[in-house]
Amino acid sequence: MAVTDTDVIIVGAAPTGLTLARELRLAGVRTLVLERLPEPRAVAKAGGLGGQMLEMLQYRGVLERFEAASGLPRPAPRFPFGGLHVDLTQLVEPPMQALRLPQPQMESLLEELATELGAEVRRGQEVVGLSQDQAGVTVDVRGPGPYRVSAQFLVGCDGVRSRIRELAGIAFPGTTYPEVNRLGTFTMPDSLTLLDDGDYEVPGLGRLRWGYTQTETGVFAISSYTPNDLGVYTSEEEAVTYDDDKPMTVTEFEDSIRRVLGANLPLGEPTRLTRFTFGARQVERYRAGRILVAGDAAHQFPSGGVAVSAAMLDSVNLAWKLAAELAGWAPAGLLDTYHEERQLAGARTLLHTQAQVALRRGLDSAADALREVFSELLADEQPRRRIGAFIAGSDIRYPMPGANPHALAGTFAPDLALHTDRGPTRVADLMHTARPVFLDLADRKNLRELAGSWQRRVDIHTATTDHRPADAILIRPDAYVAWAAGVDEPDDTAAPALSEALSHWFGSPS
Ligand SMILES: Cc1cc2nc3c(=O)[nH]c(=O)nc-3n(C[C@H](O)[C@H](O)[C@H](O)COP(=O)(O)OP(=O)(O)OC[C@H]3O[C@@H](n4cnc5c(N)ncnc54)[C@H](O)[C@@H]3O)c2cc1C
Repeated sequence: MAVTDTDVIIVGAAPTGLTLARELRLAGVRTLVLERLPEPRAVAKAGGLGGQMLEMLQYRGVLERFEAASGLPRPAPRFPFGGLHVDLTQLVEPPMQALRLPQPQMESLLEELATELGAEVRRGQEVVGLSQDQAGVTVDVRGPGPYRVSAQFLVGCDGVRSRIRELAGIAFPGTTYPEVNRLGTFTMPDSLTLLDDGDYEVPGLGRLRWGYTQTETGVFAISSYTPNDLGVYTSEEEAVTYDDDKPMTVTEFEDSIRRVLGANLPLGEPTRLTRFTFGARQVERYRAGRILVAGDAAHQFPSGGVAVSAAMLDSVNLAWKLAAELAGWAPAGLLDTYHEERQLAGARTLLHTQAQVALRRGLDSAADALREVFSELLADEQPRRRIGAFIAGSDIRYPMPGANPHALAGTFAPDLALHTDRGPTRVADLMHTARPVFLDLADRKNLRELAGSWQRRVDIHTATTDHRPADAILIRPDAYVAWAAGVDEPDDTAAPALSEALSHWFGSPS
């Protein structure tokens, strides 16, 4: 391998890049993060984090640090979906949960987690050019002065207007909707009365229904988590490009409310003000040689609440594959599965976020009928679970090799409670180091010995669990199940399938 300054250059120190930096450091990869902003961004884009990334943080043993940084109880699992509400509060084990943590605090914690494992983050360093050859990637950086730095691989985590994507010649087809969304949270003003049924009494206007209301000029929504806070949202057609780093003012928001609602609304002290536009785009390729893209650089979703989790999950999927390439044991095609799997996941997220556009943007009676039908469906548990899993990004099943894969193969490994000789543990606890895990749940000696041939790369664990879903499970570092043996499945079928899965994901026996 050619001598380079570092193993992986990450462009962008935001949720995607900082998650990738930590995951790479867990695998011992030398990592340099270049960020054009001299200081962390103070403007809150996302107000929190939800979905499968929360589970992933638990599998890495760091969820408690995010909960501590939030300092707030988990909000009730009730989520917007295309102008409707998906209420998961009555479900046992709701498929989607969220954590309130404004993006600047989230990024600061992610940076802490990456740098404490040895990632280098350089701020005020803009990548302005790059070139790649067989040996690596070299970037031109504009910092205090221009300089060059090289690596084996480069990952563009530089947001929706990605320069890396452009320099690598990766197309980003899709649609931008001429729609501006504004969201504000405020303290509850004295003049507004929150009624027992969740509606509001507004002086001079009368009763204002909680939730989403379609008006002739856009969409208006109002709700409160507690009697002391007020959340207001507007959406209007506006073909204007706003700078994400330019904060929205209260006056801009008041003007928008007046246009959409046709009246003034009293507001308390602002606690969060954000404005965003929606596009539906996905890169054609997540990889161009030694350059890869992840997060918003790879996809843009036209509905809220899903992008940060999807972005960070790209990084978790990519990191161990890059680490395997760098360590020299990656089987042929492993790195390309990053494109295959995350393209599939991104397409799934685009599917439901675009469906939400159709639900919320239609203004005619047919659209009203669609919303009514959809609301009726959401009254039932099964559709609510399905939509919840959609929003959480947990309904993905990656294709796995083998003729008859087990139902768990390709899904996120369940967090089974385990009994071991050393006491109780859980699947999540086995994933903290981001190493592959072979989990023997039924004392399958032959399978365990077979997996033992890969023990330099794969951790072998023996345990039992109540109601075991499989006799043995092979889990990748990103917590996806690579293979599982059915309960009492004979060795004659289980062993060759395990061998195939181990070779497919983790190369030749070590
Ligand atoms: C107003 C608003 C509200 C949002 N609300 C939500 C929400 O509630 N929930 C949700 O899930 N998502 C939300 N999003 C989306 C979410 O913020 C993004 O999905 C998330 O920030 C993507 O992270 P990222 O790391 O991929 O990219 P970004 O956060 O865009 O970060 C890219 C980084 O790359 C740096 N960079 C760019 N070019 C270069 C270069 N040439 N050299 C060096 N550095 C460079 C940038 O300075 C930046 O720090 C919201 C977005 C906006 C704008």
